[in-house]
Amino acid sequence: MSSKKLNVFLQSNLQELKEKGLYNVIDPLESANGAIIKINGRALINLSSNNYLGLATDAKLKNAASEAIEKFGVGAGAVRTINGTLQLHLLLEEKLAKFKNTEAAIAYQSGFNCNMAAISAVMDKNDAILSDELNHASIIDGCRLSKAKIIRYNHSDMNDLHAKAKEATESGQFNKVMVITDGVFSMDGDIAKLPEIVEIAEKFDLITYVDDAHGSGVLGKGAGTVKHFNLSDKVDFQIGTLSKAIGVVGGYVAGKQELIDWLKVRSRPFLFSTSLTPADVAASIKALDILMESSELNERLWKNADYLKKGLAALGFDIGESETPITPCIIGDEVKTQKFSQRLNEEGVYAKSIVFPTVPKGTGRVRNMPTAAHTKEMLDQALSIYEKVGKEMALI
Ligand code: PMP
Repeated sequence: MSSKKLNVFLQSNLQELKEKGLYNVIDPLESANGAIIKINGRALINLSSNNYLGLATDAKLKNAASEAIEKFGVGAGAVRTINGTLQLHLLLEEKLAKFKNTEAAIAYQSGFNCNMAAISAVMDKNDAILSDELNHASIIDGCRLSKAKIIRYNHSDMNDLHAKAKEATESGQFNKVMVITDGVFSMDGDIAKLPEIVEIAEKFDLITYVDDAHGSGVLGKGAGTVKHFNLSDKVDFQIGTLSKAIGVVGGYVAGKQELIDWLKVRSRPFLFSTSLTPADVAASIKALDILMESSELNERLWKNADYLKKGLAALGFDIGESETPITPCIIGDEVKTQKFSQRLNEEGVYAKSIVFPTVPKGTGRVRNMPTAAHTKEMLDQALSIYEKVGKEMALI
């Protein structure tokens, strides 16, 4: 018998979400998450994945994964500190450090999990964290888990950050103070003002933490936002994910050797959750090799992104202020946003609507994620569908 209180809670809340157009419907894919996907038997141009470089379906990565499965099996068999560390994990961490130009790196099972792990391993209730108000949910949860005082600053507002950093450090209330930011903000595509953040951090002796989930593989010719600004030796924590441009799954911190040594003895998902599978690790190593050897995929990504952005803007859509391939089409009203996404889908474009609570209320958008794997023909077709549906709904 299930609890009556639970039933009332679930039914009333689900009903409310559905009425407000905030209930997220999940469409299962019948194909790989490439430039074209199959859903309900229909082929659609995919503008919703984070598979920036098309590596999720790359033959070299698939081969590396298959070979690793043959040699090491499908599971790592234990947490890292018992006997779930394969040589492959260490090789991945070496490559990540090289990729990020740091002394060392540590891999986790996901980017989300990495933020939960890393923040709480270093910060505690005697500390404070200055956090951009638009930081990713996993950063927010990682901060909460640490029990440090969370001080939100206005999005990319350096005067606000300066004032709050001064107040926090001069109050004498806190032991350590950290500033934490996304490298690239995932819903708007704007880049964090890292040079100014680092300057403020140096002035007030703040710990610097940059989550570059959407910048790695994209900015700095692929090396990420920190490299884009040439600040590799000025950022304490460089966080990344293996699930977006790298095309696989997993997360990591790159930084000084002592920091990584500490995370290996104190961060809980490393100590208490089974490590990445051999296939994930081998495929990620291959992806890093590809990225470090050539910037070809990165160049293709930017070319496609520029093309799509210019096309959507020329049609009259509000594409916001993105500085990266992330291309929102801002609609505003949640119900209208979902309707727009649904009509695009019916016409052959898969571009997911993103509404509250992922973005603030009234700023619903369809977010487009062009990748290196799209062809010009696919983008042209997508643009003509955008034009048709945009006119039909009187959005342009
Ligand atoms: N941080 C940021 C900034 C992200 O955008 C994401 C992806 N949604 C994550 C962390 C989580 O990464 P993962 O999907 O690897 O768990």
